[in-house]
Amino acid sequence: MKTIDLDNDSKMPIIGLGTWKASAGEVYQAIRWAIKLGYQHIDCAPCYGNEDEIGQAIHDAIAEGDIKREQLFITSKLWNDNHAPEDVMPALQKTLNALQLDYLDLFLMHWPVAQKKGVMLPESADDMVSLSEIPLEMTWAEMEKIQQQGLVESIGVSNFGVKKLQALLEKAEIMPSVNQFEHHPYLQQPELVDLCRKNNIAVTAYSPLGSGDRSIENEPVILEISKRLKASPAQVLLAWAMQQGIAVIPKSVNLGHIKENFEAQSLVLDGKDMEDIAKLDKNHRFIDGKAFVFGDYTIENIWE
Ligand code: NAP
Repeated sequence: MKTIDLDNDSKMPIIGLGTWKASAGEVYQAIRWAIKLGYQHIDCAPCYGNEDEIGQAIHDAIAEGDIKREQLFITSKLWNDNHAPEDVMPALQKTLNALQLDYLDLFLMHWPVAQKKGVMLPESADDMVSLSEIPLEMTWAEMEKIQQQGLVESIGVSNFGVKKLQALLEKAEIMPSVNQFEHHPYLQQPELVDLCRKNNIAVTAYSPLGSGDRSIENEPVILEISKRLKASPAQVLLAWAMQQGIAVIPKSVNLGHIKENFEAQSLVLDGKDMEDIAKLDKNHRFIDGKAFVFGDYTIENIWE
């Protein structure tokens, strides 16, 4: 298993299993298959509504001797309605209980957006809390405390753009170990990747296959490389990211896909293939952030 060194000497497996939209009734089996196939990294979040079932699968995999806890790298996230300092620890505890764990390997602030307590998805400006009221660095300071207490090995952020990440770096006592954001050939965000690299922040690509939209896999460049290398289009996309030192967390509940995605670790693309894929960038987001555009929040300031 290839890993990425984090700034605090932890190692993050370069490929993990995504679990968004992995529904109850499917995700248990997907986790069990993935662990048996060699996956050690699982990407979770309370807002995916399936942490109880994932916790049961992790528990059973350990109990049946498929893997040991210390071999696993489990990520979860702080949802937007728990940004108030007093809400951070209880939110983490809830996630740990659901996942049946006593620590997380990585705890991320899910979005640079704050919502009122109890709001899962906002419907109006009333559901939001302005960042002037709960600044991101205030939430981060609480995550730092939690890391110092040993309940999470590493802390990081997600969906932070260049300006927000730079602002956090100026105020943080503990630097984020990871920034998890959308990344694939249509959305490469070179400036953000560069900023992360310069500050020793590992990048995890979410939606590395295009989040269920088949358009990247059907790009002629991807199809040609896939045919020539006798690999699937999904494997080409995953290998392209991993070869740049970017971790990938493709979601799947399909045994064949879970296996083929994992095997993408051994696919090698040459320099020309890497460059040809890089030419597909068109700054296109599949996860556009519009769900949070209420009150002070605009598309522009969410992604800045
Ligand atoms: P994705 O992994 O790019 O794509 C998932 C889709 O691709 C599913 O429809 C899956 O269907 C299909 N698929 C998987 N492997 C395949 C293969 N080998 N061949 C063909 N199709 C394949 O999209 P995502 O779920 O948006 O992103 C991945 C993970 O990133 C999420 O699950 C979540 O853990 C994380 N994420 C985080 C954020 C954030 O805000 N931090 C946002 C979005 C996602 P099957 O299940 O049928 O295989």
